[in-house]
Amino acid sequence: MAEVAARATAERFRVMKPSATVENTERIRAARASGRRILGLSSGDPNIVTDPRIIAAAERAMRSDKTHYSAPAGEPSLRAAIVKREAERSGARYDSADVLVTPGGKFALLTGLMGIVNPGDEVLVPEPGWVSYGPCVRLCGGVPVAVPMLDRLDPATIDAAVTARTRVLILNSPVNPTGRVLSKHELAATIAMAHRHDLWIVFDQVYSDLMYGGTFPYPQALADGFERTLVVDSLSKSFGMTGWRLGYLALPPGMAKALVKFLQHSIYCVPAFIQAAGEEALSLRDELVPAYRELFRRRLARASAALDVVLGIDCVMPDATFYLFPKVAGDDTLIAQRWLSEGDVATMPGSAFGPAGKGHLRMSLSCSDADLDDALARIARLGV
Ligand code: PMP
Repeated sequence: MAEVAARATAERFRVMKPSATVENTERIRAARASGRRILGLSSGDPNIVTDPRIIAAAERAMRSDKTHYSAPAGEPSLRAAIVKREAERSGARYDSADVLVTPGGKFALLTGLMGIVNPGDEVLVPEPGWVSYGPCVRLCGGVPVAVPMLDRLDPATIDAAVTARTRVLILNSPVNPTGRVLSKHELAATIAMAHRHDLWIVFDQVYSDLMYGGTFPYPQALADGFERTLVVDSLSKSFGMTGWRLGYLALPPGMAKALVKFLQHSIYCVPAFIQAAGEEALSLRDELVPAYRELFRRRLARASAALDVVLGIDCVMPDATFYLFPKVAGDDTLIAQRWLSEGDVATMPGSAFGPAGKGHLRMSLSCSDADLDDALARIARLGV
């Protein structure tokens, strides 16, 4: 029976790789359920308990009948709060009509790509880069083309990857997995290049609240960037709300009208009580975000220093995110496997983020401080 089902499965899933990060998380969940104590440095889900005021807002909304279908584009009040957030952060002035609320940043990405990728179109994806970019492009019938950008975003490299079929460039800053922030200069040069080839830019800024110094450059705030950029964002990482599934798209003027059809025909809407929680979270931004940022900054500084002194590990403090991406002297997949089997420490091999990530490990500082200390001690003992 299982064989029949496997044969009947659509081609798109036969060629699609499972999400390396999600599968890893599921394996750890299973190992923990069977009693093994794993120190988790592999998942992008921080150990932040959602603030009780956010939970209370969802509860209040549920009790006041916010349990029906709501507007597919999102509740007007949340869209207005998102417009305000975007104006305060990037200075970009969106109209509420150009904002779509989605179940998480991942679905915002898929919705954006659904809106601009035609079958056979090529989409440039960053490498090393988040594992879902390529599969989301394929779900839209597009062809992902990896562009190496480990240490820098080089417009000439992107330029060389452009063909007559290229329609879109996905950019992510701060970068998962490296924690790098793309500079204003890199972004401006890339926008100019996108302008020349008439490419859309899909800009994934889900970690932009977690930057440790300096100002964060947003392409939608740069000359020619606003009308060419589809912004993907989420409340997951900034507010400890990964499981709430709440994100959004901020779009070039006029595009939302077409894209909302995808929401109408797929999810219909994000539950109204989840959106009420999101609105509460955004109202608490000035209080909550700096505290989470400081928590991650301290962890990153401590862990990067501790790892850098281990022979064969070269680790620097990242510009942003809660990820470390140390260089390791050896095969990253084998090292990650050995740390897990011999030390119960879970990390992600850098090559899971594309060949350009080879020779690195991604370590997510999303566990408790006590578990982090324990993991660092075990890594020092195990070596690479
Ligand atoms: N973009 C990047 C770069 C991510 O790392 C993630 C989550 N790991 C997302 C988008 C999506 O997050 P969410 O769907 O929880 O908003």
